[in-house]
Amino acid sequence: MNHDQSHALFARAQQLLPGGVNSPVRAFKSVGGEPFFVQRADGAWLFDVDGNRYIDYVGSWGPMIVGHNHPAVREAVQAAIQNGLSFGAPCPAEVAMAETITRLVPSCEMVRMVNSGTEATLSAIRLARGATGRNRIVKFEGCYHGHGDSFLVKAGSGMLTLGVPTSPGVPAGLSELTLTLSYNDADGATQLFEQYGNEIACLIIEPVVGNANCLPPRAGYLQHLRELCTQHGALLIFDEVMTGFRVALGGAQALYGVTPDLTTFGKIIGGGMPVGAYGGRRELMQQIAPAGPIYQAGTLSGNPVAMAAGLAMLELIQAPGFHDRLTAATHALCDGMEAAADAAGVALTTTRVGAMFGLFFTDQQVDTYAQAVACDTAAFNRFFHAMLERGVYLAPSAFEAGFMSAAHDEAVLAQTLDAAREAFKAVAAG
Ligand code: PMP
Repeated sequence: MNHDQSHALFARAQQLLPGGVNSPVRAFKSVGGEPFFVQRADGAWLFDVDGNRYIDYVGSWGPMIVGHNHPAVREAVQAAIQNGLSFGAPCPAEVAMAETITRLVPSCEMVRMVNSGTEATLSAIRLARGATGRNRIVKFEGCYHGHGDSFLVKAGSGMLTLGVPTSPGVPAGLSELTLTLSYNDADGATQLFEQYGNEIACLIIEPVVGNANCLPPRAGYLQHLRELCTQHGALLIFDEVMTGFRVALGGAQALYGVTPDLTTFGKIIGGGMPVGAYGGRRELMQQIAPAGPIYQAGTLSGNPVAMAAGLAMLELIQAPGFHDRLTAATHALCDGMEAAADAAGVALTTTRVGAMFGLFFTDQQVDTYAQAVACDTAAFNRFFHAMLERGVYLAPSAFEAGFMSAAHDEAVLAQTLDAAREAFKAVAAG
């Protein structure tokens, strides 16, 4: 594969953008090598500036659940832009979006639109602190909730990949208020609430972790956290930026039957446009300005073009059987990967929840952060590059979940597994 144009662009970018990118994981620091620059994307495919194409299992880190450049989403955007790009005043599509989210995720009786997942989580913990009058928050090691100061404490994603547990620039006085737990450790959570229960404003969690590879919750674990929060008067926040509308139409809360007090959403509800949202019980959301005293605002929030893209996408995923087909495709991919690894003598364990999956280079079952970081990341990195050379793009880090889309049909899956059979042989050869 020729990468001359990407290489030249990356050289220019590195002079002008920190690390040559606008978001860390894209820089391939974790897997080594240089990123490719994307010219366009269609269906399951990315096309780079050198004319190479790749089957894409990143999907813009989640939003491309119907595939790239879906005609219905594109046409909705084209129609919306005829009327202008931003008004800074209410528009009808915001109301339709709020109606759609509250119908599909009933724990959200009201919602507020924002522009990113980071904004959604920051706003949600402000609301939790304001509503409870308490300052401490609880998060989980390996969970990523965006780059808000309170979350950059043992964070996952780029932070984990880069091996920086806490970012300079975060005041110790603030990070001290963030208590950290191990995901899937029920007793640890009980003990923490026994000690700090009456000081905890909220517990925020990725119900299925997608930022430490892909870690599903143990049976009853989310229910246990729900009970602890209720018992101690803390709010339970599900960060469904990745899981929302993906692991099931109603998100992880529908899949596992656990009702959070607040939910955060991100990129997926923009269909590729910059969007986030948070929502929850009416009595809580009514405390947000201007209905109530807790301040949160955004010039571009509820943007008409972003709302049009998101509404078109949310319409498509409500088709009967949409998530069943995605789930079946994810299982077929993961089963095929395990068989291919086995044939090559490579130890591989997979996790899958709906349209999310994880590939772990280990012969153990994995459902904790400690197990995820103990896997063979060097083997993952070799596999990543072996797949890329064969035209398959996985997330460029061993600590990111994979994403399935409706455009990944049987032919695409077969082509992925053909590449995987060869790539595992390359990993086995060392
Ligand atoms: N929460 C979760 C679970 C995420 O995965 C991410 C980003 N991947 C965020 C929050 C932050 O979203 P954004 O990058 O849109 O700010």
